[in-house]
Amino acid sequence: MRNPFGLIYVVLRGGRHRVPLTVADIYATLESPPNPRQRDAIELLDGPLRIIAGPGSGKTHALVVRTLNLVCCRGIPPGRIVLVTFTERAARELQDRIRLYANRLPGVPKQLAELNVGTIHWFCGVVLRRHHPTLRRYEPLDALGQKLFIHRRLNEICEDLRPGGQYLGRWRSKSSGVQGLAAWLTKITEETITSAQLRASGDPFLDMLATAYERYRTALTESGYLDFSAILRELYDLLVNDHAALQTAQAEYSHFMIDEYQDTNYVQEEVLLRLAAPNYNIAVVGDDDQSLYRFRGATVRNILEFGDRLRALGRQSRTVPLEVNYRSHPLVIQAYRDFMSDCNWVAEGNPFRAAHDVVPDPTKQFGNYAAAVGLSGTPAALADLVQLLIQRRAVQDASQVALLFYSVASDGRETITALRQRGIECYAPRAGRFLDHEEVRHAVGVLWAIGGFSDDDPERPVSGPVSETCDWASTCLAHLRRHAQAADLSAWLDARRRDIDALQRGQDISASLLDLLYQALRYDPLRTVLGDPIAATNLGYLTSLLRVFQQQFGFHVIHGGNKQYLPWALWTSFFYLLHSTGVDDVEKEESAPLGMVQVMTIHQAKGLEFPVVVVGSIDRTARASKEIDQLLGPLYPRGAFEPTQRVTEFDWRRLFYVGFSRAQHLLITYSDGAPYRFFRPMLQRLPRCGGVNWDDIVRLVPREPIVPPKQKPILSLTGHINVYRRCTRQYEFFNEDGFAPSFAAQVFFGTVVHQTIEDIHRHVLDGRPEPLEEALIDQYFQRNSELLRRRGIHPLAPNQREEAKAHVLRYFNANRDRLRNVIDTEVEVMLEQDRYVLDGRVDLIRSDDGALEMVDFKAQRRLDQGAEFDAYSDQLALYWHLLEERYGKRPDRAILYYTGEEQVDQARVMVDLSRADIRDVVQRFDGTAQLILARQFELRHYPPRDTCRACDFKHYCRRAEADVGH
Ligand code: SF4
Repeated sequence: MRNPFGLIYVVLRGGRHRVPLTVADIYATLESPPNPRQRDAIELLDGPLRIIAGPGSGKTHALVVRTLNLVCCRGIPPGRIVLVTFTERAARELQDRIRLYANRLPGVPKQLAELNVGTIHWFCGVVLRRHHPTLRRYEPLDALGQKLFIHRRLNEICEDLRPGGQYLGRWRSKSSGVQGLAAWLTKITEETITSAQLRASGDPFLDMLATAYERYRTALTESGYLDFSAILRELYDLLVNDHAALQTAQAEYSHFMIDEYQDTNYVQEEVLLRLAAPNYNIAVVGDDDQSLYRFRGATVRNILEFGDRLRALGRQSRTVPLEVNYRSHPLVIQAYRDFMSDCNWVAEGNPFRAAHDVVPDPTKQFGNYAAAVGLSGTPAALADLVQLLIQRRAVQDASQVALLFYSVASDGRETITALRQRGIECYAPRAGRFLDHEEVRHAVGVLWAIGGFSDDDPERPVSGPVSETCDWASTCLAHLRRHAQAADLSAWLDARRRDIDALQRGQDISASLLDLLYQALRYDPLRTVLGDPIAATNLGYLTSLLRVFQQQFGFHVIHGGNKQYLPWALWTSFFYLLHSTGVDDVEKEESAPLGMVQVMTIHQAKGLEFPVVVVGSIDRTARASKEIDQLLGPLYPRGAFEPTQRVTEFDWRRLFYVGFSRAQHLLITYSDGAPYRFFRPMLQRLPRCGGVNWDDIVRLVPREPIVPPKQKPILSLTGHINVYRRCTRQYEFFNEDGFAPSFAAQVFFGTVVHQTIEDIHRHVLDGRPEPLEEALIDQYFQRNSELLRRRGIHPLAPNQREEAKAHVLRYFNANRDRLRNVIDTEVEVMLEQDRYVLDGRVDLIRSDDGALEMVDFKAQRRLDQGAEFDAYSDQLALYWHLLEERYGKRPDRAILYYTGEEQVDQARVMVDLSRADIRDVVQRFDGTAQLILARQFELRHYPPRDTCRACDFKHYCRRAEADVGH
């Protein structure tokens, strides 16, 4: 706590908290009491703990109750508890379950929403942003973003490192170079290998890689991006090198729970153990048998050697195995237990599997039928069997049947076709078919018409994979032009193309590609498809991809200077990468649509369960990625782990163990060729499909009820309620369908002012040694401006830029004596409501003459009245309510600070808020939230003209278009 008002800070961070419950009170609310091992997992709260949780053993249940034990019985403030897992989906499930269980308990604090529940990357990103002096505003790059980043800079990264004309002498095509390089760079980052180590290895490839790595990391940092592994590496470096930052971060969290620990990597473990020190109240949860992500850098070593690691840190850890399986029929369990036992897990004298077992639920009665069978036949035979199970009601709904493959795209397509031929629809969002949707192809046609190669362009690639992408886009346009209703759109596209072709240097069309795509929405057939929610979501996702393109390739406006590069960037880089690797569909819902069989990869099925599971791909030749470990292994801080010659079998068995263990009542192994040798002993034990009594199976398989997912959305005043109140249709497009706002509509001015004022406050809070003077503030301002510009947000004209800086400096000079009173800045406050989580972010909390002040900054001239002022006032009232509810401490003053005013007494406006005002605002917020939850998006009346003018959908909304005089 570095600020001089530490006491108030502690009150704010720690919060009001009651400790009214015992763990027995929690158990009394559960449907079934925990078994003895689960009780250990729930009640052993102090010190390091390893929980080895077999499939279906109630791991999530134990984690949820453990969390409530910490909050409700131990009285640990939720914000001090960290619960991280592997996927956003799993994190959402944990959040939902915690809320569900908490609703049954009295006295659960309203700040439960402040639990740090999310993915490891998310949590580490939060810590990094909070504590790193210069990386507070980095933009995270997901896997696609990282590949695009490398693709755009591949020549810059390794142009001179191409012996034999190949990328680093290893990859022939640009696409494979991007994919390959991304994997190597990620592993180097995650194993904290330095370029000096790579060079010292004496390997020519690693020597080149060292240079490529340095260039890549420099390019990332200069652009304000961090890929997922770099987030961890930067945090690791910070915690190792900055003791003060380490101590401050450690003080913020008291208890850690790390789910799916078998899939963590080296740097993740290092970071988490450093944050958990010195008390090491850390529970790691996982199952080494389900370690799947070696190809993403994970190492099973973390969970297998957790005890040794803690012992080296001077702590004794305990292990709790959760072995009772509550999911599967005993014959299913036996099938996958034996499959794992077929393998010798000891190599070179070392065991590579933890000692644990899986046993059926002893309290449950199971039907006497063949619950695990092997099917050897054609995709048509499999489709017939699935049809029989659905028609004879072995499941309540087709979505309770899951087909799992190693790769849906290569192994599952024929089965999907065979099912569709029988009238059975499939839900296969990870089949990489997003670009095949009709509306997406229409939009691609629009982009090709505007920014594609012309037919007679000598630059257009005519052979090789890039030409296939161009041909595909050209076909999309031809298809669009043939559409019965596309005449107007076709003419409009031709006119836009002529505009672009006619551009001279120094001229522009005042629009980006994204703007033009939004303009095209006024015409059929695109216009009509917006009425279909799935099609609208697909178009929305395409706009978000296009926005990534514009950010990464710098095409913010099409002008005479960049128009000739547009086709190259768009089709030989961006769309080529998407088209050649495939894009998965948007998965908006937590569960598959009813009536559709689920088809997914085994990796995707991790953490899920289904009444009936078919596992295919067992005739595929087993392969595992070993090359990176072979070459880089000697440079890993802990050296290589599993013997190389055993890796393929270990990985393959773990992968299919995950697939088999997803089945609740019926497991069918499926192959349409000779099974790979790892599976043969298992298949010899299983009854064959033709030899079992399907009448018995259909009669005896239990019918599982269909449970709809329950999610609590997070709603904020600025991001949701105000958008909805401004225009329900705009809300639906941007917040529901996921359309990305075009850059031209974004505001630079207010953002750069806010960010730099926040930097001033952070500088004080962090106790940085450099004197806080105008020159330093100017550096902060320049850096923020540059990052915004690089991200494609429309830069300011020079005079506006100077004006924005003047706002910041005026605030600084008028308030420099008060800066020591800053308590916190950008404070996120969340509150649980019945059906949603209320979220707010307070710009500044400070103490003034002993009074607690809440401040909201507005980068404009002063307002004292009018609708805009009322909205600001509502915002303050809501934040007032949040702070009071959250911390049990009422702010004494609510201030609007207008940075556009010269005099400080003009800049500060104290807003009078009575209890009645606050109650009224909260009620109105709730009323709007209920409308959003009820999905009431119908446009009843148009918003003011200025709102439509600034909206990307003004061309679509024809009535608005007429009103605003376009
Ligand atoms: S143009 Fe106007 S009416 Fe249409 S979505 Fe935008 S704000 Fe709403």
